[in-house]
Amino acid sequence: MSFRKLAIASVIILLSCAKAEKEAPSGTGIPNPIESDEIIGPSHDFEINTVPIVTELRIISSEEGNTFSFDLEDDDPEVDVKIYGLSIENGEYVEITSDWAGDVGTGIAPGENKIIQWTQQGSTDYSKIKVVANDGRDRSIPYLVNLVSKQRIISDVGQMTGIRHYQSGPNLLSQTRDYIDKQFGQYGLSVDRHTFSWQSTQGINIIGNHLGSSPNSNDLLIIAHYDTVGNTPGADDNLSGTAGMLEAMRVLSQFEYSESIRFIGFDLEEQGLIGSSRYVSEIAQNQNIMGVVNFEMIGYTCRSPICANLQLADTSIYNIANPNSSTLRINFDEKGSSYVSNLGIVSVEADGDPNFRRSDHALFWDAGIPALFITDGANFRNPHYHKSSDSFDTLDFDFTTKIVKTAVATIASLAGIKTAGEAIIGI
Ligand SMILES: [Zn+2]
Repeated sequence: MSFRKLAIASVIILLSCAKAEKEAPSGTGIPNPIESDEIIGPSHDFEINTVPIVTELRIISSEEGNTFSFDLEDDDPEVDVKIYGLSIENGEYVEITSDWAGDVGTGIAPGENKIIQWTQQGSTDYSKIKVVANDGRDRSIPYLVNLVSKQRIISDVGQMTGIRHYQSGPNLLSQTRDYIDKQFGQYGLSVDRHTFSWQSTQGINIIGNHLGSSPNSNDLLIIAHYDTVGNTPGADDNLSGTAGMLEAMRVLSQFEYSESIRFIGFDLEEQGLIGSSRYVSEIAQNQNIMGVVNFEMIGYTCRSPICANLQLADTSIYNIANPNSSTLRINFDEKGSSYVSNLGIVSVEADGDPNFRRSDHALFWDAGIPALFITDGANFRNPHYHKSSDSFDTLDFDFTTKIVKTAVATIASLAGIKTAGEAIIGI
């Protein structure tokens, strides 16, 4: 279920997520340190399967009709092959079901030089022929959404929790980078470490690339900062977002798309959006980014007395976008409504209030790139915000899982998930 409360936009005041509150460390040390070689669970939870590929489509015309040849690649033993003609009459592809013989229909084995004879002259009706090969694997949006695993999100938060700060938690900060890097690599992504200097330290954004098949593919980004302020285990801020980004990566990376999807863990967000600022100025300008989903605290819900004084004490997620990002914002709302049950989405158009700029999406907004600020409301909902009590056991993982599902549906549909291979030839 999705609902909008635009009127709330004028009354929401979000304090800066990037500003540390002074709060004594708990002194309990870093829970659950990452063992660098340890990855919980199998490296792949679900089957990887490639979309069939049709190449080398050729046509030989004769008085008896047309013969087509093509190469067919797939990792399944048999696929379905169908023929479509581009109708001269109405300009649409229509399936041609009769007068074919050869490697067409069900149960076609992949291989080179597949042959199809078309026994009837059809060239007066069609200007082009399209050969489509489908392996029958389910790549629908509901199927992807169902692959999102709450257990994997819980596991990731447990693995990385602890102070991840360049001064007070540099070891865990470094281990967290390695963990994200390793997860990207295990799911077949190419990984870039975007390094930059800031004051006396070196920041590192970890980028996982799942490249699209289009020759000039556009880019879609799912981002989350992985650093913390100096005194908090940062479960909600922002392991919830980091784990959500990793789970979206695990699901989305199992499929092929026209566009490229990039997953980014940003560094030094808490020091003033440093990592994202460097990314936008040094890398994003060379990309064609269609949209960005920024997970910034997606783990906390509260209606109990502990949150009674907090303005956003409820169980909805806030989907905040500037006017230039409205189409993306509405797309996210609709995906939540269509594919995820019982997730309240408060969809808000940012009205210039600086409190809406409190995370990495703001740099993308400034660069004219559509971006969503997906947040539980930070200190307006979470009493543990930037405190040593921002711990694993305060999170609502059902909530996080639903948000990740919504993002997966949004990004998969925008990226153009490929369900079948095809080749086209003029006749
Ligand atoms: Zn944050």
